[in-house]
Amino acid sequence: MSQIYPLVCTRGVVILPGQDIVIDVGREVSLKAVDNAQDNYEGKVILVSQKDVSVEDPGQEDLFGVGTLCEIRHIRRFENFMRVKFRGLHRAQLSQMEKSANGDLIQVDLLQSIRQDETEEQALVRMIIDSFEKSSNLDKFLPKDVIMELSRGIGADQLSDKSVAVLPLALERKQTYLETLGINDRLEMLIQDLEKEKEMDEVEKRINETVKKRIDQGQKDYYLREKLTAIKEELGDVVEQDKDAENIRQRLENNPYPETIKKKVKDELSRYEMLPMASGETGIIKTYIDWLMDLPWWQETTDIKDLNQAQAILDADHYGLEKVKERILEYLAVKQMTNSLKAPILCLVGPPGVGKTSLAKSVARALDRKFVKISLGGVRDEAEIRGHRRTYLGAMPGRIIQGMKKAGVINPVFLIDEIDKMASDYKGDPSSAMLEVLDPEQNALFSDHYIEEAYDLSHVLFIATANYLENIPEALRDRLEIIQLSSYTDVEKTHIAREHLLPKQLEENGLKPSQLKISDEMILYLIRYYTREAGVRQLERTLGTICRKTVLAILKDHKKSITLTKKRIKEWLGNEKVDYGHKEKKDQIGTVTGLAYTSFGGDILQIEANRFEGKGRLILTGKLGDVMKESASIALDYIKAHAKEFHIDPKKFEDCDIHIHVPEGAVPKDGPSAGVTMTTALVSCFSEIPVKANLAMTGEVTLRGNVLPIGGLKEKSLAAYRSGITTILIPKENVRDLDEIPQEVKDAVTFIPVSNVKQVLKNALVD
Ligand code: ADP
Repeated sequence: MSQIYPLVCTRGVVILPGQDIVIDVGREVSLKAVDNAQDNYEGKVILVSQKDVSVEDPGQEDLFGVGTLCEIRHIRRFENFMRVKFRGLHRAQLSQMEKSANGDLIQVDLLQSIRQDETEEQALVRMIIDSFEKSSNLDKFLPKDVIMELSRGIGADQLSDKSVAVLPLALERKQTYLETLGINDRLEMLIQDLEKEKEMDEVEKRINETVKKRIDQGQKDYYLREKLTAIKEELGDVVEQDKDAENIRQRLENNPYPETIKKKVKDELSRYEMLPMASGETGIIKTYIDWLMDLPWWQETTDIKDLNQAQAILDADHYGLEKVKERILEYLAVKQMTNSLKAPILCLVGPPGVGKTSLAKSVARALDRKFVKISLGGVRDEAEIRGHRRTYLGAMPGRIIQGMKKAGVINPVFLIDEIDKMASDYKGDPSSAMLEVLDPEQNALFSDHYIEEAYDLSHVLFIATANYLENIPEALRDRLEIIQLSSYTDVEKTHIAREHLLPKQLEENGLKPSQLKISDEMILYLIRYYTREAGVRQLERTLGTICRKTVLAILKDHKKSITLTKKRIKEWLGNEKVDYGHKEKKDQIGTVTGLAYTSFGGDILQIEANRFEGKGRLILTGKLGDVMKESASIALDYIKAHAKEFHIDPKKFEDCDIHIHVPEGAVPKDGPSAGVTMTTALVSCFSEIPVKANLAMTGEVTLRGNVLPIGGLKEKSLAAYRSGITTILIPKENVRDLDEIPQEVKDAVTFIPVSNVKQVLKNALVD
């Protein structure tokens, strides 16, 4: 049965039965229609959607064929529109439209939903409810009350309409729902739409995720860091750590660190920041970062290129050493000329206290470079040179890297002291690590276990020192340019004391030269009776002591100046410490002075032989090495073979035990050069002819009595000279070494070349 109601056309809105909707009504006809409905139709009105939203004044052909009978629930009037809340009541089939003064009217037939197969309906409803329950996301479309109603079990009719009302569907689709009367048909449509929605939702989610992933990694880091800081602040755990990190980042930015180092530090920093302050590991990481940052990577000093100036500085710092200084200058000149870092490394070899360290310092001064020093004395573990891996507790970089940090520049003069005192053991061979340090081919990529990154040592000027050439590992010796320094004579020592040591000590103790008067004679006295050494270290200390005592005397006893006398020296330093002319004072039987060459320079060595009733045994004492023991048996066999010539009764060898002793029994001694000395001692002992007291000798002996050359003649002669010896027997082949011996020594000592034992005995034994 047809009825007539006022008509309101909507744009883009379809109302379903049971749905509430608020619409702003603005068109003149529509306003009239609403008023008409209020006044004459108990607030009932038909709402129909236009097919095309842009049509201003739609005719019936512009409208869909089915609309909705609605009830006006509420009206708010504004100046030129009304805000009206409608509730959908029924589907309505439109038939005839009429224009009137009170707006449009429409004739309609109300439509009823059609129930279809009931089982199917139930199944469909269940599917829809299931689908809602499974998809948590759908509640973003479904208001809570709908879900509540669903769970209470509303009718299938309402279910479809309520759902469609809230789903974000296109206008036409909604209109189709309105026009479809079969409830099951609508439910099927609904299931399709829900599925589609779910799919859309997932696609959307996926897109969101990819977008999120694409946020630049840096931004993410930034975000995380900010978040972390916030967390830490919240915990009151701020902020030393972050300040540190910030400072480090700044330093990295502002300085030309190599890229690899920048990266490494940044990586470590991120770890550092992630860890809580209290964790032990932060300290370890921070220390590591500090090492990386503090090492010099680019800082460099500029060399002075003026070799005249370099020479002036070397001369000013050291007395004598002409040849050595010349070699050093040559070395610097070549280095400058070739501009090559591949020159071999300088190695200064000589006894202690002869100025190796101070020469190296002078080289640094002459080039205006920084100076650092490490000592390898007693180093037996490779890790001391190359560092420990960071996994070790308390790991540290090796000494090379430590030295570089101390230097603070990439091109210091780097002194490696006592390179001959390295030992190797099961912990690895430090000398192979040193090889890598000193080899110009390799040291641009020096690897320290702790630092991990390669470090370039190729700008460093390495200078090594050693006491004893033979003790430097062979492979290392190859890489070194050896410069020998030897002991000083008394005259040289006097010069050094007068020109260098004394002025230095005076200044250190705040004395004026006029306040302490020392004659050359007194210096010599100090040298001879208070020091016995190859170099001048002890002498420097002694002068230091004298300066201190002088200061005390001036301040305490109000003396104006001190003149040093033997008496005063004895008073201040005690009795003479050294027996100058440390030799046998009288000609003795069985006691001969030999000469040794040690890492402390040369020294004299008394050899004593004695015999007593026995069975022909040979006893050796005094910590003799194998070579020295062999020399003793060679000597004995030689004498046995030549007993007649020496007027010795051969029977004596059978009824006697022979004892050879080399005093200072605790010091190990070895080497073949005591051969002549032992032979002489034995002959003297058996023949009972004394040996001259002021005579010393050195030389290896063969079984047939030939005397072979020895090494270290210069040091040995200096030692003999220091001890007041006046004659030295030397192997004939060593005569060529006499060139090297200072004139001062040659003036005081007679050198007699010998080629066999008979000549030795002829010169050594008292006639
Ligand atoms: P080394 O390193 O060879 O053991 P040092 O360089 O420590 O010896 O020398 C010890 C002291 O003797 C230093 O104060 C040094 O200046 C001084 N010295 C050594 N030789 C000379 C020399 N020829 N001229 C001036 N001073 C010297």
